[in-house]
Order: sequence, then C-alpha cells, then structure tokens
Amino acid sequence: PVVTRFAPSPSGFLHIGGARTALFNWLYARGRGGKFLLRIEDTDRARSTPEATAAILTGLTWLGLDWDGEAVSQFEGAERHAEVALQMLDSGHAYKCFATQDEIEAFREEARADGRSTLYQSPWRDADPASHPDAPYVVRLKAPRDGETVIEDQVQGRVVIKNAQLDDMVCLRSDGTPTYMLAVVVDDHDMGVTHVIRGDDHLNNAARQIQIYHAMGWPVPVFAHIPLIHGADGKKLSKRHGALGVEDYQRMGFPAVAIRNYLTRLGWSHGDDEFFTDAQALEWFDLGGIGKAPARLDLKKLEHLAAQHFSAMEDAAALHELAGYLAATEAAPLTDAQSDGILKAMPALKDKARNFGQIIERAHFILTERPIAPDAKAAKALDDVSRGILDELTPQLRTASWERETLETIVSTCATQRGLGLGKLAQPLRAALAGRMVSPSVFDMMVVLGRDETLARLSDAAS
Ligand code: GLU
Repeated sequence: PVVTRFAPSPSGFLHIGGARTALFNWLYARGRGGKFLLRIEDTDRARSTPEATAAILTGLTWLGLDWDGEAVSQFEGAERHAEVALQMLDSGHAYKCFATQDEIEAFREEARADGRSTLYQSPWRDADPASHPDAPYVVRLKAPRDGETVIEDQVQGRVVIKNAQLDDMVCLRSDGTPTYMLAVVVDDHDMGVTHVIRGDDHLNNAARQIQIYHAMGWPVPVFAHIPLIHGADGKKLSKRHGALGVEDYQRMGFPAVAIRNYLTRLGWSHGDDEFFTDAQALEWFDLGGIGKAPARLDLKKLEHLAAQHFSAMEDAAALHELAGYLAATEAAPLTDAQSDGILKAMPALKDKARNFGQIIERAHFILTERPIAPDAKAAKALDDVSRGILDELTPQLRTASWERETLETIVSTCATQRGLGLGKLAQPLRAALAGRMVSPSVFDMMVVLGRDETLARLSDAAS
C-alpha cells in the first residue's frame, strides 16, 4: 500500500508551494487507497512554536487535505534517531570522529592550497577504537568513496552522483542530537513511507539520504522531486510576488476546491483538462504527469477556475464556506435571517462570481436594513419620474402572486405602457431595493425579500 507524507518545517504559515506539495502527496495516496501522513519537522526549536505548527494544520484543514493519524513531531523522535546512529556505529557503517573544528578548518585550508578537494576526510574513519580519546565526538556515516549513488527520480529521471563528491556526513552531533539528514530517513522509514514527493530543492539531500538507507539495509522509497513554483515573472516565488500563504488565498475569497484544482494543475497536467472535480483529480493524478519545468502562478487562471467551481457548487456548500470566509476576514458573522436570505439568493449571488468578496457585495441587499441608504448612483436613479413609476407599480405588486414570472410580467408590462425599456424601469427598482446599482436582478431580489419587505422598500424610496 502507498504511504506518502508531508513534512513541513514550521514557518508561521502554510506556504502555497508547501500546500501544493501536500496536495500532490494527498492525491497520490488517497487516489490509491493509501495513507497520507503529516510530520512536523520541528527540530529548529526557535522557529517551532505551537502557533507555527497550528498555522500549518489550519491551512491543510481549510484546503481539505486530511491526514491519517496524529501529526508526528520530528523533535520528539530524537532518541530513536540517536539509537539508529548507534546501530550504524555497531555495524561499522558509521564511526566516531573526534576532529575539532580547528582541525577540520586546517584540513580544508591545506586541501585548498594543494588544489585538492576540500571535502573533509576524517582520520578517524579507519582508526582503531582502542586509540579513541576520551573527548567529544560526532558520529559520521562511513560513506562509500568509490562508485556512485543513483536517484531513480520519478520526475527528474535518473540522477547520478559520484560518491567522491559526498563527504562522510555527520549523523549525530557531539551533543547527541541527530542531524536533519538522519532524522528524515529514520522518520520516513519508521512511518512506512513508500513515496517521497517534495520540492526539488531537496534533490541533493536525496543522495545523502539514500546512503543512510543503504547503510541500514532499509528499502529506499520512491522519490519524486517536483519543480518549485515561480511567480508570474518566472522568478522564484518570494514576498515580492504578494500572497505566499494559503490563508492569503482564503482571505482573497477563493473557495478551497478551486485552489485544489488550481494547485493540482500547477506543475501537473492531464491532457488539456483545466477544470476538474476532486473525484477526477483523485482518479487522474499520477507522478508521470508532473512537468520538469517550474510552473508559474497565474491569478487570472485561478479566478477563472473559481468562477467555474462556484457554478458547480451546491448552494448550501457555498453558504457554509462563505461563513468561513467571513470568519477568516474578521467580518461579522451572518445572522440566521441573513443566512436564510443568502441561501435563497445563492444561485444568483454565485453566478459568475470569482470570489466570496463579490458574493458578499451582491448580497448587500440582504445584509442591509431599512431604511436603505442609497449611494450616490442609486440616489440619482431615484429621480421624480422614477418615483412616480415605483408608486404606480406598488398596487399591482400588492396583489400579485409572488413568483418570479408574475413579477416579470408586471414590471415589463408597466415598462411597455410607458414606452420604456425594461432596463430603464429596473434601475429605480434596483436603487430602491439594494441602495446601489450593482446587485442581482431585481426579480431575484424581490423573490428573496418577499412581498412585505419589497413593498416597504419601494414605499421608502417613493416618499
Ligand atoms: N522539512 C522540509 C521542508 O520543509 C521537507 C523535508 C522533506 O520533505 O523531506 O522543506
């Protein structure tokens, strides 16, 4: 069975690139009935605050990427990591190195002066344990000096690294704490990880990690190193490009399903398909579809996908996520009455919307209360002539059956009688009902507001 993992280092937020890495791992595992695990690489104690970890969990949860079991803390595994280092010592795959920093520096200087490789070669590699001093030491891997280490990468292809280019890496520091390289391998092995899908900034680490797998006689997982995400200008993604955290995208009002679709397409392709559902992504996602070139962030594309997902979304689901958007933007929560109104109006509100902000703008007629304060444009649309028309409409609306079709007939008949286009009549109606000139259609608003509220707003405006 497939086991993947996402192994972020806490940084205070879930980076959009990290989110895509998590998503690829999640899709790969979930699409194959496998497991998706989460490991927090929290060995850097200064950065690894509970808040920084919580931000990652919150981001993943919002994105809908559920993980199996508890999130694992790498820091808490330190004893186990040390135990593995000792095993490698026992089996002769590692050795104690007593060299001091000064000695290592001196080695490098001499090598530089002689034009030799400055990769450190410890004199302790083959020393007789009987000669060991009673002094602090690090545990180094006794890495092969000849031959090569090969990464059979599912994205990068076969990557060959000469062993002569890799020094005997430190696995355990002199204070007994594990190095990152050792911790990752031990954790991935112990967690049963079969596929490591991560950014290609870790490709070089993979060679070193494979050496540890070999030393322990453990099976090497499948590696897939994916190209990093670039900004629209083709440069590596950085603060200059604006939104970096998943939470920023939530605050921009994108629905999570659209982000999932967008991030899946970012660096992975399935023919010409741009819009797809989660079910399709789960069925189609594979490592072979991951491109070798860095993908570029493109907000226009994301907005386009968001509009398509809003059309496909159930009204109740849209309302539910709208509430999350309001909380994320620290806006006031909806009252029950407002929720009811928005749910009723949802088909009109989300039609061609690109984000939840637009939906809220369109829902202004529900969120506002009588007396409606018209903005400047709406006030202009409510001139004397228009008020007269509203007055004239009122008695008919008082007795009409309150259905969209009847309302349309009444309003358009009135427009024809006056020799006006429907639009001309709709303008003062819109101004009276919404207090602004951007809103859903007047008929959608009338149906949602109901007869009493509609008549009250018309009467307010006419007076
Ligand atoms: N903690 C590493 C990072 O945040 C990822 C390590 C890995 O995936 O092996 O970049």
